[in-house]
Amino acid sequence: MATINENYSKLAAGYLFPEIGRRVSAFTQENPDANVIRLGIGDVTEPLPAACVAAMHKAVDDMSVRDSFRGYGPEQGYEFLRTAIVEHAFKPRGVEIAADEVFISDGSKCDTGNILDIFGADNTVAVMDPVYPVYVDTNVMAGRTGAAGKDGRYEGLVYVPVTAENDFVPSLPDEPVDLIYLCYPNNPTGTVASRETLKQWVDYARAHDAIIFFDAAYEAYITDPEIPHSIYEIEGARDVAIEFRSFSKNAGFTGTRCAYTVIPKELTGKTSTGEDQPIHPLWNRRHCTKFNGVSYPIQRAAEAVFTPEGQQQINELIQFYLTNAGLIREGLESAGITVYGGVNAPYVWLKTPGGAGSWDFFDQLLSKGHLVGTPGSGFGAAGEGYFRLSAFNSRENIEQAVERFQRVVG
Ligand SMILES: *Cc1c(COP(=O)(O)O)cnc(C)c1O
Repeated sequence: MATINENYSKLAAGYLFPEIGRRVSAFTQENPDANVIRLGIGDVTEPLPAACVAAMHKAVDDMSVRDSFRGYGPEQGYEFLRTAIVEHAFKPRGVEIAADEVFISDGSKCDTGNILDIFGADNTVAVMDPVYPVYVDTNVMAGRTGAAGKDGRYEGLVYVPVTAENDFVPSLPDEPVDLIYLCYPNNPTGTVASRETLKQWVDYARAHDAIIFFDAAYEAYITDPEIPHSIYEIEGARDVAIEFRSFSKNAGFTGTRCAYTVIPKELTGKTSTGEDQPIHPLWNRRHCTKFNGVSYPIQRAAEAVFTPEGQQQINELIQFYLTNAGLIREGLESAGITVYGGVNAPYVWLKTPGGAGSWDFFDQLLSKGHLVGTPGSGFGAAGEGYFRLSAFNSRENIEQAVERFQRVVG
C-alpha cells in the first residue's frame, strides 16, 4: 500500500499565486476585452542583459564542438562562476568567502526549500509575518508544523510580526527558536534591515545555537549605502548563517534559472547527542546526491553578470525597476495612500484605503481598475489590511497602473 506524505494535506488553501490566477482568469473570461495590468507575481519583464546573451550564445557554440563540449559539470558549479561570485559579489564589500563555500543551483526557491533536508525535524522555526510563502510551505511539507488555524498560521511555527506598528523591524522571539528565516530587502514589504537589526539576530543565533537562513535575492536593489548587502557583513555571521542569492531579480534570470547558496565552513549544527556537526559537508552531500548541476551555457551567462558590461547592464535594469517603484510610491502617496518599501526593493507595500480587507481590495482593483496586485494577507495574518504592488513591468504599464489605481481609490 503506497501511502502519501500527509503533511501535504495540511497546506492551507493552496499557494497564493494560483488563487490570484483563478480570480484573474474568472474576471477575464467575463470581461474578455479588459486590458488587465499585472503587478501581482514578482516576475521580471525586461529582456536579459546583452552580456549574458552573448556569453550564452558562445557557450552553446562551445557545446557544438568536440574539443570544447562539456558533459556533466561539477555538481557544486563550475570554478569560473564560483570564483567570479566571491571576487565580485562579496570581496568588494569586505566579505571573505571561499569559492568552495558557494554552491551553484537552479534557483533560490529550490535552495530555501531543499536546505531543510539536512536539518532535524524537531527544530523550532521562526518566520516573519508577512513572509515569502515558500519558507512556510516547505516546512509544512517537511512535517515541522501542525495544522493551520483559521488565520492561516500553522501550529508549531513561530511568527514574528513585521508591520507599520514596529516600523517593519522584527523583534527577537520570546521563545527559543533554532532556524530563522530572514529576507532582506524584504519580499513582500520592500523594507530593509539595518546593520543593528541584523547584528541583533546574529547575536541571538550565536547565543542560542540557532541558524539564520538569509535570503538576499534582492540585494542588488539596495540604494542606501548604510544597508548591508550580505549577512556576512555582520561580525560573527559566518558561524551562524547561510545566505541564498539568485540571478533572478538582478539579471532577469527568472526563466533562465541560476542561483547560489553560501555555506561557511565554520557553520555547525548539533547532533542528537549535542556534538557540533559542520553543515558544509552535509549540504555538499545533499547537493551532489540530488542535483547534477546547472547547465554550462547558463553558468557562462551568469558569469557574464560580473563583467564590466554585465555590471553596467544589470545596473541599468535595476535602475529601471527602481524608477518604476518610485513612480508607484509617488502616485499612491499623492492619492493619500500610506506606502512602504519601493526604495531599496522592487516592491511597494501599502495600507489598503479605508482599512479594506486585502482580498476585498484585490477584487476592487481588479474589477474597477483592471489591475492585479497581491493581497497582503496572502503572505501571512499580519499582512491583512496591506497590499503589494510589484515594480516589474514596462514603464507604460506602470504609468497606466498608477492612473488606474488613483481612479479606483479617488
Ligand atoms: C524571487 C525570489 C527568490 C528567487 O528565486 P529563484 O528560484 O532564484 O528564481 C528568492 N527569494 C525570494 C524572497 C524571492 O522573491
